[in-house]
Amino acid sequence: AMRHLPYFCRGEVVKGFGRGSKELGIPTANFSEQVVESFPSDISTGIYYGWACVGNGDVHKMVLSIGWNPFYKNIKKSVETHIIHTFKEDFYGEVLSIVITGYIRQEKNFDSLEELISAIQEDIEEAKRQLDLPEHLKLKEDNFFHLPEGKIVNHH
Ligand code: ADP
Ligand code: MG
Repeated sequence: AMRHLPYFCRGEVVKGFGRGSKELGIPTANFSEQVVESFPSDISTGIYYGWACVGNGDVHKMVLSIGWNPFYKNIKKSVETHIIHTFKEDFYGEVLSIVITGYIRQEKNFDSLEELISAIQEDIEEAKRQLDLPEHLKLKEDNFFHLPEGKIVNHH
């Protein structure tokens, strides 16, 4: 699962398939199918952590799930980022930049909503702890987050 890490990715936040993540208090910003297709095809499904930034905003801790997309009868993956920060407003249509730095666990099935929520809370705590370690913390300052998109493709 660690083979492709750190993994940098940037893309537009699109509408998900309304699994009610926000109602659980854990909204997940979904990447478009096109962005998901650009991921290495052999990247493991499961729960990861790393850093995320919306537009030119601050860089925050995040947890991320790479899972099977029920909308496409589970033949395509979905990539969803929960940013560990409280935003004033939704940010559909904005550009989300992430770097995935570590892996937590495989996808699991839960017997109840309570168990699912508490597992996610544990993932969030684990992500927060790991991301404070120097090897993960250093990626928060990566130029990837500071250079505007246009400047990366243009020569300067
Ligand atoms: P959807 O099914 O459309 O992805 P969600 O219930 O998962 O709906 O909510 C995701 C949306 O919530 C994101 O696209 C974003 O606009 C908004 N949002 C607000 N706060 C956060 C956050 N901390 N992390 C991720 N998304 C957030
Ligand atoms: Mg979502």
